[in-house]
Amino acid sequence: MQKVSELINNPFIQISPFLHGAIFSRIIVSGCNKYFLIPSSFKESKKTKTKLSNILVEKYIESLNFYTQSKNNKWINEKTRKENYKDIFWDANLSSLKSSYIIINDSNITKEKFLQMIHFNLLVQQYIDENKLNENKKNFIRGFIETRGSIDLSRNYISIDYFYDSISELKRAIVLIDHMSVPGNCLNINFRELQEQFKTGINKRNTQLRIKLDWYIKNIGILNEYKEKILLDNNRSIDKKNQYITYFKSLTNIEQFINKSSMFNYRVNFYLDNVLNKKLNDFQVKVLKAKLGMSSNNENFKTKRNIFVKEMCRIVKDDKCSGCFDRYNINDRSFIHAKNNKYYFEIHHNIPFANGQEFDVLENLVKLCPICHKMLTKGIALEKDQKKSNKKYFNIKWRC
Ligand SMILES: [Zn+2]
Repeated sequence: MQKVSELINNPFIQISPFLHGAIFSRIIVSGCNKYFLIPSSFKESKKTKTKLSNILVEKYIESLNFYTQSKNNKWINEKTRKENYKDIFWDANLSSLKSSYIIINDSNITKEKFLQMIHFNLLVQQYIDENKLNENKKNFIRGFIETRGSIDLSRNYISIDYFYDSISELKRAIVLIDHMSVPGNCLNINFRELQEQFKTGINKRNTQLRIKLDWYIKNIGILNEYKEKILLDNNRSIDKKNQYITYFKSLTNIEQFINKSSMFNYRVNFYLDNVLNKKLNDFQVKVLKAKLGMSSNNENFKTKRNIFVKEMCRIVKDDKCSGCFDRYNINDRSFIHAKNNKYYFEIHHNIPFANGQEFDVLENLVKLCPICHKMLTKGIALEKDQKKSNKKYFNIKWRC
């Protein structure tokens, strides 16, 4: 059996990237700190007609073991766990648990300490030095996301319940951006603590870490055949199939996800500074929600513009009007803003935001001088001029 001592006594030990990701994703302490259990769970979905059979679960466990590459230890099904580990139990509702990887805590260390050691081990792995999304990084991401991720077709995400009870645990998710080449705007962390239902105790839903489904199925792929069926039954077509991984064609037109980490990191740090373990009154919650761009009536981010994308656009894009920079001097079209001593620009969505949240991304935003922006207002300028203008923005090679 896998022992904690084997993993931590040699800080340079090779842990397979897949297992590393799964450990990073979630550790459940059980049997009075005797075991660290790494769970893999998923539920039957109404989005496919395929029945979730034991055969599919066993196939999935086979793929977990294939990627974990461990000679000493295996992912086991629930029947085996119940027979062999009678002292493992927990309060949490884990009805969707399908398989677990059990590590014996023979060193009797805390989960926090274990995570620190595992984190250190990750930082000395050579594969994280490469700038591109290599196979090892993909395997880490699969371990992190797919062992517990559920497909959210309506919001176009893969979501995992994100459990944390300390700052270092909350920051685990940042490795996906900092070391695994996941573009920052593909990730979203949905904190629940500011939501009305959470505050009043009616429904304390877990915080969720979400990753863009289209980016994921195209770049990382799906290893669970049952999830593959869900996607196929919902109009996703297969791009490539390997022994266990199926890649899908991406549905979105905007495939250029930019690798900017700032927004995601900003949200995590904002949360640490302002929300975690703080006792907030109603007024403070209102202020924080406004700062995050959350409406106080609407619990969802779904229909809200992301103010950080707009701010990012102000920071990273050149101070040039995408409409008239080649014809006019900006001096004649705008003015110096008193606050930052820079030219004033308005931020414009090329494809209107009303077409969907996926258009609230940096690639779809341009800086316009006040006159060019005004010209696009309905009924103000001639339609043919407006169309000409719009066409021009699409031809611009985005500088970011
Ligand atoms: Zn202009």
